[in-house]
Amino acid sequence: MSLISCKNCNKVYEKENYSEFVCTQCNHKVRKRIKNSLQVSLSLTICAILLYIPAMLYPMMEITKFGIKTESTILQGVVSFLEYENYFIAFVIFTASVIIPLIKLLGLLLIFTSLKIDIKIRNKNKIRIFKFVKAIGKWSMIDIYVVALLASVIQVGELFNIKGGLAATSFALVVILTMIAAHRFDTRIIWDD
Ligand SMILES: [Zn+2]
Repeated sequence: MSLISCKNCNKVYEKENYSEFVCTQCNHKVRKRIKNSLQVSLSLTICAILLYIPAMLYPMMEITKFGIKTESTILQGVVSFLEYENYFIAFVIFTASVIIPLIKLLGLLLIFTSLKIDIKIRNKNKIRIFKFVKAIGKWSMIDIYVVALLASVIQVGELFNIKGGLAATSFALVVILTMIAAHRFDTRIIWDD
């Protein structure tokens, strides 16, 4: 006999084995582990890492100064905010759109590959990294669009716009794919042999 709880409503069942069944209380399909959890989360993470590259390399913002439009990538934007001594905005953009997505991606990649190949990290630490990634996930709310709003409110002395296109789309996809990869991952796999 083993005790199995529904992941959705937490109702506990006494079962003979681990074969899947439907929860009588909420109709959720109760499985020992989420199907293909590691494979899907790892693939999503790799896609997100690939998309991070165009998000950084293609122009994301448009800055209009004296009527002249210049396009800039996220990093060029950070540099120009520094030049105008808008240190706070430079810091927020750099943290929210360069550092945080990167930490999240590398954290997930580390956990997922350590489950595929033999990397010596203690399970407790893997859980810690995962919790950390999920916690800073909340900060992806402060993405570049919020920063754009902020910039227009405090008036930088020139027009600052977020350009649509490849970089912005890639960036949005990076954020979304990372979120799904983390959300869909079944942490119980870490404890499996
Ligand atoms: Zn249930």
